[in-house]
Amino acid sequence: MKGEILKNYINGKWVDSRATKTRDVINPATGEILAQTPMGTKEDAEESIQAAKEAFWRWRTTPAQSRIRYLYELRDAFEENFDELAEVCTLEHGKTLDESRGEYRRTIESIEIATSIPSLQMGFNFEDVAMGIDEMMIKQPLGVFFCVAPFNFPAMVPAWFWPLAIATGNTYIVKPSDQCPITMVKQFEIIDELDFPKGIINLVHGGPDVVNTLIENPDTVGLSFVGSSKIGNLLYRKAGEVGKRVQVQGGAKNFITVMPDADLERTIPNLITSFYGNAGQRCLAGGVLLAVGEVYEPLKDKILDAAKKIKLGYGMDEDTQMGPLASKAGMDNVLKFIDKGIEEGAELILDGRNPKLDDNLINGSFIGPTIFDKVTPEMTIAKEEIFGPVIPIVKVNSLEEAIEIINKSRYGNASSIFTSSGKSARDYQYNVNAGNIGINIGVAAPIASFPFSGMKDSFKGDLHGQGKSGVDFFTEDKVVITRWF
Ligand code: NAD
Repeated sequence: MKGEILKNYINGKWVDSRATKTRDVINPATGEILAQTPMGTKEDAEESIQAAKEAFWRWRTTPAQSRIRYLYELRDAFEENFDELAEVCTLEHGKTLDESRGEYRRTIESIEIATSIPSLQMGFNFEDVAMGIDEMMIKQPLGVFFCVAPFNFPAMVPAWFWPLAIATGNTYIVKPSDQCPITMVKQFEIIDELDFPKGIINLVHGGPDVVNTLIENPDTVGLSFVGSSKIGNLLYRKAGEVGKRVQVQGGAKNFITVMPDADLERTIPNLITSFYGNAGQRCLAGGVLLAVGEVYEPLKDKILDAAKKIKLGYGMDEDTQMGPLASKAGMDNVLKFIDKGIEEGAELILDGRNPKLDDNLINGSFIGPTIFDKVTPEMTIAKEEIFGPVIPIVKVNSLEEAIEIINKSRYGNASSIFTSSGKSARDYQYNVNAGNIGINIGVAAPIASFPFSGMKDSFKGDLHGQGKSGVDFFTEDKVVITRWF
């Protein structure tokens, strides 16, 4: 075997691969074997991951200004060794030295551009990138996009997408929830009255057959899905197989942390809205209440008092404060979670089952405000999305413990802290792995100019809905380089 076996560079050291197979690296101009590439193993990869994982925290906490100094140094070193680097490139690739030099010029430029990150001054349109050559980036619409929407916000969720999509020049199909489609029918009646140009926005009802067709048809460009993580993950894979753009906003389990220094009088109404608004059926709803230290007793008493005062009833009545679950199936699902909580040993201190209602509501899907005390993080009701008016209270000893629990969740949609300490709030926003963070805000819902973020099993894709990310999702970046003779 000719040529040396190349080594891995892990944790600042050259190390041998565990590979048993290698591949020749050949100078394509001469046929000479230059070296052997090890066809690395699982363990090689694990070794590098472990090293990177361990290095992460320190690198992350290094200020950006300091991080980029390494890039400046690298840039200088590349300049000093410029000719040699270009020669090696030519040897193994076969391109001319001038081409290799050009390639390295670009490599160095990429490093230089990255050094501007702290100032966030990465403009797009430049004159004279080289003498007499201008460069610009234009954003172009791509074609037909569609959304698959959930039942819980049947008017708002499709509007996270379609206005931006058509404003950027695409055409659109809304596939509303098959459970709550009339809201969109109403919107389309108004669209019809306004005489929109034909075909720019469309509505199609249905279930999996419609959705699968929308995904598989080669004439659609991309999909915005909002719904459960189970279906979202399925569609994410399907859409990926056929090369579609896809953003999947999935389910959630949002933790709300209350610190001992929180202003409880103002916190309680926020918590009530967060856990019981929309009868708990919102992806940004509070899912677990983490009571830190001595706030536990007063918080429990006050939230119990406030929850008991909520008026459950018919949504059409002006004085109703909480309506039913959106379906029987949804209600049955919540009831199963309540049973599970009891079975696993949590203490039901407010039981919303079989609430007393007016006679005209006895067939409704009602569950009243429900609270579980003595919940532990391992219990099902502390881990799974209940999507109903249930507060599981978990007592913790410190902010660090709260954050550790939150970051173990499979979800990462939203999380809020109630505190009067800037330090606690800052630690929270810095360390919690959730896409939308609330500080003394119980429902951390981004306004439309901001991306609707989300992490882990709450979001799949690269570009979030709304804001600049939304614009990017619905457009392609095209770079134009111009020289006029
Ligand atoms: P769901 O997943 O059951 O349905 C969502 C959509 O998918 C519907 O339009 C439905 O017709 C379609 N669908 C269902 N099964 C399908 C299949 N097999 N193939 C193709 N399409 C299918 O969700 P839901 O119950 O309507 O909504 C509740 C969920 O939505 C909750 O988990 C909630 O957290 C989530 N949600 C998330 C966000 C967010 O921004 N992350 C916002 C709102 C709701």
